[in-house]
Amino acid sequence: MFKRIFLFAAVLFCVATTSAQTGSSGGAAPQNNSLSGVQWGAGLPRFAYPFGSKEFEQLNGGRSRQVGSYNFPISKNMAGVLMELDPGALRELHWHAEAAEWAYVISGQTRITLTGPGGQAEVADVNAGEIWYFPKGWGHSIQNIGHETTKFVLVLNNGEFTEQSTFNLSDWISHTPMNVLTEGLGIPLSIANQLPNSVRYMLPGSISSVGTLKKPAKNPKQLPHAFTLLSRTPVFTDGNGTLKLVTAKEFPASFNMSAAIIHLEPGSMRGLHWHPNADEWQMVLNGHMELMVFPSGGKGAVETLNQGDVGYVPKGYGHALKNLSNDKPLDVLVVFNSGEYQSIDLNKWLALTPSEVVKINLQIPEDRFSQFPRNTPLFEGAR
Ligand code: MN
Ligand code: MN
Repeated sequence: MFKRIFLFAAVLFCVATTSAQTGSSGGAAPQNNSLSGVQWGAGLPRFAYPFGSKEFEQLNGGRSRQVGSYNFPISKNMAGVLMELDPGALRELHWHAEAAEWAYVISGQTRITLTGPGGQAEVADVNAGEIWYFPKGWGHSIQNIGHETTKFVLVLNNGEFTEQSTFNLSDWISHTPMNVLTEGLGIPLSIANQLPNSVRYMLPGSISSVGTLKKPAKNPKQLPHAFTLLSRTPVFTDGNGTLKLVTAKEFPASFNMSAAIIHLEPGSMRGLHWHPNADEWQMVLNGHMELMVFPSGGKGAVETLNQGDVGYVPKGYGHALKNLSNDKPLDVLVVFNSGEYQSIDLNKWLALTPSEVVKINLQIPEDRFSQFPRNTPLFEGAR
């Protein structure tokens, strides 16, 4: 009896929300109503984190905030840092013991330095729309060489990564006995005494102190660690959206991470799919979207993300993204913890499977089945 009342109420609720949505200007509200009574997200961890509305930690020369498994538990295998540097400021020389760093510059101009275990040395200018990749354990620094604040997002392939766990030059110097410093660096005590005696992490600077780009002599086997993403030709494009991709094939230094920028026109959707080989870390660059996740086990989740918010889809979980705006495009940065891009789309799967099997599985007659499209695009237009 109780169940019947609940079902009746649920149906009434769905009818009410459906008509409310039809009556609205359409598309702006999440269409997550269902007659089956699924409680979206019930019993599941959150797949989205309101990163865009979090406060920055103010630092000397810039600011940063971070997201990882400590505040966003589903993101076990990747963490993110949003960082801003004031003109001339330096994120000091450091390395990470347990994570590689993949980064996308959102705005401004940066200069990176990188040093590897084989004597590799690299200096490169990385501007808005471009990326870098620092292998795990390699020493690196980032400086703002432009007149505007630069903003970039770091994606680390370890969910437990925090900026507090980085190995910073000033930290090491200030926590090494003076006699070891003088002997280890071959410097007199008078100089050792003047070195930093506390952790700097970030250092303010001025544009006038920025030198010209001096590229070190290159080992012929050395791979470049800076590349572009935004200016790449899309690997897929139609009237509903584009997909720009950078994998280890185009950018071999980034052997274990790849990324995409998905652009969706108002109301369009990146259709139902999954990635057999990688987790997916997302950040909304512009716009407002809905993330649908199918984690198996009789559950489903629907999340709404605004600009700057972060989504996470574990390897193999089914998902789709929809631009919720009626009039503005959506751009999403998507980073994978594999150098190879693999995806299986539900519409393609159904189209490639013998119709006899699909008809039995979906329990539909021939005339219904023939309404499934044979062409299987990546994106779907507004409906
Ligand atoms: Mn770093
Ligand atoms: Mn995906």
